[in-house]
Amino acid sequence: MIDVAAAIIEKEGKFLIGKRKKGNHLENKWEFPGGKIESLETPEECLIRELKEELGITIEVGGIVAERIFNYSGKEIRLLGYRASYISGEPILNAHEEIKWISAEELNKFDFAEADLIFVEKLKRGLDTNVRWVKRGIKMPERELFRDRIHWAITLLASALGSCNRLLISSSAEKNKRIVGLSYNGSLPGQPHCDDVGHHMINGHCERTRHAEVNLISNTDEEKLKDSHVRALGTPCLKCLKDLAGVPVAWIEYTGYYNNQEFQPTPEMIKEIFGEDFKLLHRDIDWVELFQEIFDRLSGPGGIFNRLGYRIKLVKEPLEK
Ligand SMILES: [Zn+2]
Ligand SMILES: [Zn+2]
Repeated sequence: MIDVAAAIIEKEGKFLIGKRKKGNHLENKWEFPGGKIESLETPEECLIRELKEELGITIEVGGIVAERIFNYSGKEIRLLGYRASYISGEPILNAHEEIKWISAEELNKFDFAEADLIFVEKLKRGLDTNVRWVKRGIKMPERELFRDRIHWAITLLASALGSCNRLLISSSAEKNKRIVGLSYNGSLPGQPHCDDVGHHMINGHCERTRHAEVNLISNTDEEKLKDSHVRALGTPCLKCLKDLAGVPVAWIEYTGYYNNQEFQPTPEMIKEIFGEDFKLLHRDIDWVELFQEIFDRLSGPGGIFNRLGYRIKLVKEPLEK
């Protein structure tokens, strides 16, 4: 899957659109500017970089507007649209034939690339991204987005089972919309846990535990793991990446940084060892928002908290160090 991000940039009630250059693929179609998300880059970082490169402008990226997965000439593409505010810079024409600031009423006058029509529709309805899905029921593509969040939530919960409290991490594998593997870091089967007998430190690493990714590989049928989408907590180390690349899994996403010291991957190393197409992406996740959305849904019609008659309200409080 190829990940592409687009920015719906707003300035004084108008939105920035660009016409694709002649000779380019989809020439003369209008689009919301953006580009391909690189390895180890968040969609937000990608948009800031692309808008600097393509139009020479500085933006601030806000919340997600829509996500869409579609097939384009046999390739699966995931398009993520984000709201953004214009900060500075006079737009220049590097990658576009023409650009325009237009109001939502003018959207109909332009011939948009098909993939961008989802944003056009959203803009016509007014960007109601603050309305929770709970209120209007979950529809496509929000359902895809929601499944992604549920799978992250499941992955996170599994980390609490980790038995080495130097690091509680977990990973999961998704294939055909289902979780086919779930694991956390822990001791070998039948061996004592760090929690009970202490860590076994060698060169700054606890060698008693097996990394979550290694457990994922050994606990999941190879057929299921092959071409799956792996989610991981913490930056995967180079050793685990190599094992996952060997399966091979389709792509890997991780959230939350972890320093693996001498086994820490860098974008250069990834390219050199695993090749250009290896996909390791970082995701920023607001866990309070994520779990609140899940709990809100469960306080809505048919949800367990609805039947129990209460809602759960999450609060983020900084830890006292
Ligand atoms: Zn340990
Ligand atoms: Zn590892």
